[in-house]
Amino acid sequence: MTEVVVIGGGFAGVEAAWQAAQAGARVCLYEMRPVKQTPAHRTDKLAEIVCSNSLKSDEPGTAPYLLKEELRRARSLVLEVAKETRVPAGAALAVDRQRFAELITARIEAQPNITVVREELTRVPADAITIIAAGPLCSDALAEEIMRLTGDDQLYFYDAIAPIVVADSIDTSIAFRAARYDKGGDDYLNCPFDEEQYRRFYEALTAAQSVPLQRFEETRWFEACLPIEELARRGYDTLRFGPMKPVGLVDPRTGREPFAAVQLRQENLLADAYNMVGFQNHLRYGEQARVLRLIPGLERAEFLQYGQIHRNTYIRAPRVLAPTMQMRARPAVFFAGQISGVEGYVESVATGWLAGVNAARLLAGRELVTAPSRTATGALARYVSQAETDNYQPVNITFALLEPLAEQERKRFRRKRERHERQVALALQEWDDWLHTIQHDTAPLVANG
Ligand SMILES: Cc1cc2nc3c(=O)[nH]c(=O)nc-3n(C[C@H](O)[C@H](O)[C@H](O)COP(=O)(O)OP(=O)(O)OC[C@H]3O[C@@H](n4cnc5c(N)ncnc54)[C@H](O)[C@@H]3O)c2cc1C
Repeated sequence: MTEVVVIGGGFAGVEAAWQAAQAGARVCLYEMRPVKQTPAHRTDKLAEIVCSNSLKSDEPGTAPYLLKEELRRARSLVLEVAKETRVPAGAALAVDRQRFAELITARIEAQPNITVVREELTRVPADAITIIAAGPLCSDALAEEIMRLTGDDQLYFYDAIAPIVVADSIDTSIAFRAARYDKGGDDYLNCPFDEEQYRRFYEALTAAQSVPLQRFEETRWFEACLPIEELARRGYDTLRFGPMKPVGLVDPRTGREPFAAVQLRQENLLADAYNMVGFQNHLRYGEQARVLRLIPGLERAEFLQYGQIHRNTYIRAPRVLAPTMQMRARPAVFFAGQISGVEGYVESVATGWLAGVNAARLLAGRELVTAPSRTATGALARYVSQAETDNYQPVNITFALLEPLAEQERKRFRRKRERHERQVALALQEWDDWLHTIQHDTAPLVANG
């Protein structure tokens, strides 16, 4: 085998291609857009962000920070470009999606070891090391090939995306700037509800018409990304304790916390668009416009994008993958990104990073590596290779996935925050040591995970 083939130029695919190429491998990156579009992507750019422009919290002491910090220390292309295209978002790392995708595309195209081929790949080549990073909207033909490869006949479920509002159409005499508990200054706009306004909104939302799904009866929603109308159906107050929770926000007009609130996050550097945080839904567009304009401050809102549903394709990874991201049954085939059974942008980057590093090592006849157990990358690799397979669901990185502190350490650090900070510090130490070792080792090939 003489090259690494990467299928899919999304978050995972570009990181995998970059890492393999930087390690000296010849890489052929197949991206089917713009020849064939997915239902959510709109451009021909690599690493196009289709929904929220946030890469989650970058606050030290949190699990999403740990994952990002590991990747930054490991010279991740995606994290480097995210830094260059960052927009204000409080404690979160958010990017200008257009500049982000443009810059990633330019860097990948300029990498001499990478050839980008704009073509849908429907078969896994027999003569190349292959990384499948085709994402949640993997093309149907490739999904069939993956079913054949993995012996699995159920590869997808549904989740939904949030609407984007034109900034000028938001009434800022009502919507106020603030971040929860003053974290991150004035980066969010907040639409406050009193009790009566909330009741009217709730009633309209639960009565509104959704877009019918194909095979609706088979729908399996992803719990972490439930559409608001599904959440609302679970109870009158569910939204007030979820995406509409008002805690930590004080409305300057009343000097009090509102009854409920909708947060809007800046979408781009120009600040001419705002994303409705946690407001993914699958209402009909006309119904969305009507219901969302009941939100105080959005009475005259113009929408750049309405909420939508989408398919989410992933393998039942623990049946299939080793912690190296290789298929146990076919070690020259790797999976990375959402399709490998993780959820989220940065999680996809991390698995792409690991698959790219290992694919290059396999090509060079070197020993493959497994990320250390305390680290966030190690925790994700452990989850995809070892989690319970009944009702397997992709996950975001959280402390629940990380190795807990030893008993002695738990006694020493009594507060949750201190314990988390300690976990992060230990993980980063382990990560640095490991990076140092793998960058210098010259051990021979071990092809299996
Ligand atoms: C509508 C939607 C909204 C989402 N919202 C969020 C969010 O707000 N936050 C979040 O963290 N995550 C979100 N996700 C999940 C998100 O997709 C992942 O976090 C991230 O994009 C996964 O990266 P990936 O590289 O695995 O897939 P992608 O970024 O989707 O990249 C896969 C690429 O593979 C290409 N491809 C597919 N099949 C083929 C083929 N046969 N041949 C060649 N190319 C192919 C596609 O065109 C695509 O460019 C959302 C997903 C969708 C679909």
